[in-house]
Amino acid sequence: MDLYEYQGRELFARHGLPVLDGGVATTPEEARAIADRLGGRVVVKAQVKVGGRGKAGGVKLADGVDEAEARARDILGMDIKGHTVHKVMVTTTADIAEEYYFSYLLDRANRTFLCIASVAGGMEIEQVAHEAPEKVVQEPIDANVGVDEAKARDIVSRAGFPADVADQVAAIAVKLWQTFVAEDATLVEVNPLAKVADGRVLLLDAKITFDGNAGFRHPDHEALEDTSAVDPLEQRAKERDLNYVKLDGEVGIIGNGAGLVMSTLDVVAYAGEEFGKVRPANFLDIGGGASAEVMANGLEIVLSDPAVRSVFVNVFGGITACDAVANGILQALKLLGERGEAVTKPLVVRLDGNNAEEGRRILDNAGNPLVERVDTMDGAARRAAELAGVSAESSRVRDESGV
Ligand code: GDP
Ligand code: MN
Repeated sequence: MDLYEYQGRELFARHGLPVLDGGVATTPEEARAIADRLGGRVVVKAQVKVGGRGKAGGVKLADGVDEAEARARDILGMDIKGHTVHKVMVTTTADIAEEYYFSYLLDRANRTFLCIASVAGGMEIEQVAHEAPEKVVQEPIDANVGVDEAKARDIVSRAGFPADVADQVAAIAVKLWQTFVAEDATLVEVNPLAKVADGRVLLLDAKITFDGNAGFRHPDHEALEDTSAVDPLEQRAKERDLNYVKLDGEVGIIGNGAGLVMSTLDVVAYAGEEFGKVRPANFLDIGGGASAEVMANGLEIVLSDPAVRSVFVNVFGGITACDAVANGILQALKLLGERGEAVTKPLVVRLDGNNAEEGRRILDNAGNPLVERVDTMDGAARRAAELAGVSAESSRVRDESGV
């Protein structure tokens, strides 16, 4: 889960890191009230979960309450890289003398944590790394050792932080690491970490990502989630412990195992080229056990997406054998009928692996006209795409003829 900057700023403050005083507003009037409390010059910042807000015009200085209100009015509702601004953060302004960069992140490729530090902050770190790699220090952090004062000082001196800020930056480096650990984050990024006119070093931006797998240790994190931005189907899937991601195609996908589902998305997208560019409508991994209940929940979620025109159920039997999956599918269809959500869209089922023969026979014997069995992954993907393409074609004809 990614946080908004204002949430990150509050989190930093709670961990004793130096940030500017401020608040968050959803209306220009609220922004005005915050500016009034802060007094004098403020900065108004768009709250969207995307970088480059400064360049996009989402960060504006304001001198006094009238300007603060006007700038908030400009920024609220703005579109920044496809994200609509619903909130602005208003803080006291800092007179920036120098901008640095500092982050900790999980370095999956190297199976470690990493500190990235640079005295060339304020701009995108990727660009700095590209144009002046000598200005970017990358230091692996051993999870068992962490960042103590010695480590922090080493990073600070190698990155070339000026002597007058070295102590402050080292102290921030230690505290920021403690925050990273305490909150089970996979990223904390501060850009800019700024030296301001009076010599203080402040964290002027906050980008934080939590490790969702550690959510059970942080009941307080749940309240930070922006449910208004979550797709309603994804929300429903989550309540049922299903791993579902909405995509924008027409072929519903259900599979067991994240790897299998991801490759299913690829073959369906490829096959769909031929049938009017139909594409996968979702990612749904039903995991190891494909019981009727889980299958019914999965089908219900996938089918309640109005964009879905056909469903591809792709299961490789392992610990859960294909006969159990086949029975699960049939019972799920019955269950949905009983819930008053009878299935009307075609299902293409591919079963392979443990007890595949038995599973296929069970499907055939049931003789459900909506269920088609295809035994290869490519073949099944092609058929599901074709069915989605055909019904797309007929609905287009319907639309055009005005029926
Ligand atoms: P981003 O562009 O989305 O990363 O947003 P930032 O929060 O990093 O802001 C972009 C730029 O706006 C920073 O690099 C600063 O130059 C400037 N900025 C941000 N906060 C302040 C502030 O409090 N005072 C001043 N003077 N400039 C600020
Ligand atoms: Mn920034």
